[in-house]
Amino acid sequence: MKAVVVRAVAAVVAYPHISRLVPMQLRIVFLGTSSAVPTSKRGLTSIVVQRGGELFIFDAGEGMQRNFLQSGLGMNRGMKVFITHMHSDHVLGLLGFMQTLALNGRDTPLYIYGPGVLKEYIDVNTRLLNINLTYDVYFKEVREGVVVEEKEYTIKACSAEHTVHSYAYCLEEHDRPGIFYPEKAIELGVPKGRLWHRLQHGDDVIVNGRLVRSSDVTGPKRKGRRIGISGDTRANKRLEEFFKGCDLLIFDSTFSEDEKDRALETMHSTAREAAELASSTGAKMLVLTHFSARYDDVSKLVKEASTVHSNVIAAEDMMVIEVPYP
Ligand SMILES: [Zn+2]
Repeated sequence: MKAVVVRAVAAVVAYPHISRLVPMQLRIVFLGTSSAVPTSKRGLTSIVVQRGGELFIFDAGEGMQRNFLQSGLGMNRGMKVFITHMHSDHVLGLLGFMQTLALNGRDTPLYIYGPGVLKEYIDVNTRLLNINLTYDVYFKEVREGVVVEEKEYTIKACSAEHTVHSYAYCLEEHDRPGIFYPEKAIELGVPKGRLWHRLQHGDDVIVNGRLVRSSDVTGPKRKGRRIGISGDTRANKRLEEFFKGCDLLIFDSTFSEDEKDRALETMHSTAREAAELASSTGAKMLVLTHFSARYDDVSKLVKEASTVHSNVIAAEDMMVIEVPYP
């Protein structure tokens, strides 16, 4: 796996044991953290989850490709883009991003997932604006349930509660094989090398006509990581269920408690509501984001959320969070 360098980041937040060697890097890069309008400090919503060499991009607010470029995440990687809903602050940047990828010579297919109307938005605009793409684009309309199923992970969607149809997403890594015990492999007569490698990766092998199971030489399976991203939404019971057991939850925190009426009216959440939901789902860490432009300083929102959940931070543009295995 090619090493990834994320440059020009404002802050790196790490779990205490991040220095431990992790087999598959999982990190979150916040490209934009403002709602509705950008501010001098914050761009419009876009969150990248980088898993090894692959990027999952959640929403593409206007101008998000500038911070994408600055992050050094790479133009030609495997990329899947997930749009939560068709509001301009979440989707206006998609065409610009696609054009930037093309002008930088991307030739790897791009996979886009979102509400059905997103396909029309892309088709019409690439035609009207003469955007010539250098790569194939595959679109899939999102419905509740499994959106992407790969060998090592699943990405699921759940309907959220917003002024238009909106989806929350959850990335779940599948369980990994347990710790490998070389002494057991030796005892069972498995020669070191390729067969050890296969057993370590969960495959069963035949040695001298005899079956050796991966489970004979490895410990119990180890849990993968789970990341939740709410998009714009009210905090509700449905999402509480959907995000159960998340290691990291990134949640709409547009308003503080004294603007709760506004949160109800615009179908967003307050920071405290986000924290209440995070607590009931058992999320280990809560990241507040999508802040109203009225808050130049969001420490008040972190304070409100911290009265409910013990591990809360506020997202900043270009902030990077490393997520180690549990
Ligand atoms: Zn919205």
